[in-house]
Amino acid sequence: MPYIAMARKWRPRTFDEMVGQEHIAQTLKNALATGNIHHAFMFSGTRGVGKTTSARILASMLNCTAESGKPCCECESCKAIAAGLSMDVVEMDAASNNGVDDMREILSDTQYPPMNSKYRILIIDEVHAISKAAWNSMLKTLEEPPPYLVFIFATTEINKVPATILSRVLSFDFRRISPLQISKRLAFICEQEGIKAAPEALSIISEKADGSMRDALTIFDEVFVYSGNTITKETVQSALGIPPDTLYFELLKAFEAHDAKGSFEILEKAMAAGAEIQMFLDGFVKFLRNFLYARIGLSAEQLEISQASLDSLKALAPTFEQGDILRIVKIITELNEKCSAKHGLNPRLLAETEFSKIAWLDRVANIKEVLENMQNAPPNEVSQKKIGGFTAQATARNGRGVAGNAPTV
Ligand SMILES: [Zn+2]
Repeated sequence: MPYIAMARKWRPRTFDEMVGQEHIAQTLKNALATGNIHHAFMFSGTRGVGKTTSARILASMLNCTAESGKPCCECESCKAIAAGLSMDVVEMDAASNNGVDDMREILSDTQYPPMNSKYRILIIDEVHAISKAAWNSMLKTLEEPPPYLVFIFATTEINKVPATILSRVLSFDFRRISPLQISKRLAFICEQEGIKAAPEALSIISEKADGSMRDALTIFDEVFVYSGNTITKETVQSALGIPPDTLYFELLKAFEAHDAKGSFEILEKAMAAGAEIQMFLDGFVKFLRNFLYARIGLSAEQLEISQASLDSLKALAPTFEQGDILRIVKIITELNEKCSAKHGLNPRLLAETEFSKIAWLDRVANIKEVLENMQNAPPNEVSQKKIGGFTAQATARNGRGVAGNAPTV
């Protein structure tokens, strides 16, 4: 049997199956229940959050012959809409049909009543691309639409839609979908498909999807092709070129041991395995975040990681101060911004410079302390002080010996 993309196979057919847009589903259900049908809807929000899917569900709800307040998914109308074959539901993309002539042609088509259904529904995607003249040609129809006509507009850039249009439509703002909601949906799909997937594996996909259910399913497809019926954290990382956590453990240990050269080698290993610098740094910040949270006692479930990963993080935790981790997070976050700013600097070189700084962090701090001591103390009393593996010349404070290899009296 040919493989059907998950995004297509699992496209929600009712609002009950939709994830993350419950507020919109409820409002639309209520509006339909009262029989008070607005003639123009505007769905706005970032890509992949369910705007076009919701437009199709709404069209199905309006034209479903069962009239149960939700698409029955069984009647001729519901089946035709799902297959994109309904004569009364027209879908168009304004990105490629945005001129006055395109609009006139579409509007002339709307002057006839629906053929087999209650409503004639026009779903127009990417409406921000419609020209001003084309909008003007549509204004009259929007103001006095025939009773059978319903417009459903969708856009990722609501700010580009003229105010004269916005004042004539019922607007719905679609939210980005949280990683947890995406994970739950993916887990449900895996269960239905008989795919074994580790929660940690799904959590990586959800994070990478960045609020878009469609992207999550596309990434899921990519991973599924690679891993087959058993999806683990490791197979997801390999499929997506994400560095494994073991590298981050090694990196943190290199920093702890003040081993700048070691940190360069780990970076080299990640690059050789196909990771990009930014992806590597992103992963490291997430790793550090989990490290901090593990320290303050969050559970594996709360962090969406396995118990084994949590135990490894906890085993690392006592050797670092909270402040050290926060300093490293700050440096890595700034480094990532510099790398993404594309100002011509070599990201690899930038990363190595910052890694050296981190590897030398507490030495830098201690040397600063030493310099302060030197400035504050009388010039004639000098003692040896051992600092972070270094023996530095330091001046004793208050005329007494300083703690170190020389005993204080
Ligand atoms: Zn139906």
